Amino acid sequence: MNLAQEIKNRLDIVDFINRYITLKKSGNNYIGLCPFHSEKTPSFTVNKEKQFFHCFGCGESGDLITFYMKIENLDFKEAVKNLALELGLEINSDDESTKKENLLLDINKFACEFFQKKLKNSDFAQNYLKKRQIEPKTQEIFQIGYNPNDNSLIDFLLKKYSIKLLNESGITSNNYNIFAGRLMFPISDEYGKIVGFSGRALHDDQKAKYINTKETSIFSKQRLLYGFDKAKNHIKDYLIVCEGYFDCIRLHQEGLQCTSATMGTNLSDYHIRLIKRFTNKIYFNFDSDEAGIKAMLKNTKVLGQLDAYVIEFNLKDAQKEDPDSFVMKYSIQEYKKLLQSAKDYFSFLEEKILKQHNLQNARLTQSQPILVATAVNAIKNAIDNISDPVLKNLYYSKARRLLNLNIVQKNYKSQETPKKTYTKSHYIISYLLKDPFLLDWVEDKEEFAKNFDGTLKEIYLKLTQNKEVSFEQFVSTMDKQTASICYELYLLTHEESISQKRTNFLMLINALELEKLKKQMHYYLKKIVQEPDNEELKELYRQTKNKLQRLNNE
Ligand SMILES: [Zn+2]
Repeated sequence: MNLAQEIKNRLDIVDFINRYITLKKSGNNYIGLCPFHSEKTPSFTVNKEKQFFHCFGCGESGDLITFYMKIENLDFKEAVKNLALELGLEINSDDESTKKENLLLDINKFACEFFQKKLKNSDFAQNYLKKRQIEPKTQEIFQIGYNPNDNSLIDFLLKKYSIKLLNESGITSNNYNIFAGRLMFPISDEYGKIVGFSGRALHDDQKAKYINTKETSIFSKQRLLYGFDKAKNHIKDYLIVCEGYFDCIRLHQEGLQCTSATMGTNLSDYHIRLIKRFTNKIYFNFDSDEAGIKAMLKNTKVLGQLDAYVIEFNLKDAQKEDPDSFVMKYSIQEYKKLLQSAKDYFSFLEEKILKQHNLQNARLTQSQPILVATAVNAIKNAIDNISDPVLKNLYYSKARRLLNLNIVQKNYKSQETPKKTYTKSHYIISYLLKDPFLLDWVEDKEEFAKNFDGTLKEIYLKLTQNKEVSFEQFVSTMDKQTASICYELYLLTHEESISQKRTNFLMLINALELEKLKKQMHYYLKKIVQEPDNEELKELYRQTKNKLQRLNNE
């Protein structure tokens, strides 16, 4: 049996999804508020019998593994791996891509050891770290190293690996030691495995201050937070997120180990999900310059999901500081004071936006209307990005008070599920999905197909060809959208006894036939009015009418 199937056999989808959202029993299913779109009334449905979920609001659907992939932002392989680890199942690492990834991890580990050794032998690199006051113990913890300005790295690695593989790992590029003469920061994933490097320039002639490993199958900046593997064990209440390696390392060294750093990217949904597994509270210490604020504005959608605060350096001399330079210049105690007085993210944004428009101290009503309007709109846009409706309301009332203006909350697009209307064809497919053998009651299957269009027809035709397969297997052959419709239709009818199902199914077929005959009759009638002498039409009309009467009497 394959690993994914084994996992699905061992974990129950209702219990599993209950880890993330609260599910309530409703009839034969379980329902809750969808974690994938915002809603006030639950339309997220979990079917225990067939072990699938479907959201009537946003259409997300699938099995336990699909749910886990979606909510943790993982790909299939990662999802299966994590769940297998949790269950203590043996992971078969025979497949080619796992083998390749293990090789890349080996190269990084091997290179890291080389860099650490070279650092110990280099007074030049040692002096640099001494100057920046990075203690030897911290150097050990962060496995900081040095890549000499020569070819020794390549010579060393070639003893074990091909140059092609080294290029693939990103440690070299076009057979060239791209990190030569740099201080090396290994970048680890959340489990502490080294997936890449960042190299800091130590020589004046090196153009880029930092260079990173290129994106590889194991290195993606969107997914990595520097130092998170170390920080996660120290998160009690919150996580501090800063921008630079030295900022992160400094705060760790000074005892604030619940600190991590982004790698020159905005926070991604993946980052947020990773963080949320440990805490909901996050302190940002980004640059408060123009670019930093712009980045913060872009982050609203992501940050609206967290309890976010912003640490600011209120320095009289207006000199640009970062956490590293601030702690060096003042002290960690002073930094902790900043932490205490950090503003919540949206108040921070409001303030910055008003400042940008020179409105911070002026009475808004006396200012230029055009400036006020731009500022207010910017604030509204930021608040509209908050996903939690309660939080959004709170910020709206706060903004109204602060601005002393009657900002009207955008009657935001209700994402509540629109009431869908289902036709008889939908119900027929629903029954057929539950029991394809009901098809035996359909006399002319080809003729019957005319009752369906589009996706329904596609599902019907597939059902006629695959009566024997289980619902799970049937759905697994569908594309995502069609599968979603199958799940939705499966949930449309209730669990019933076989005879009840058959009776309802036959009644539906009958009703459908009646509908069709009535339509035909109306059609012929209209034609007869246009061509009163057409005997053929009259005969067709009579035949249809008789059929209809017969059916009605059945
Ligand atoms: Zn949904």
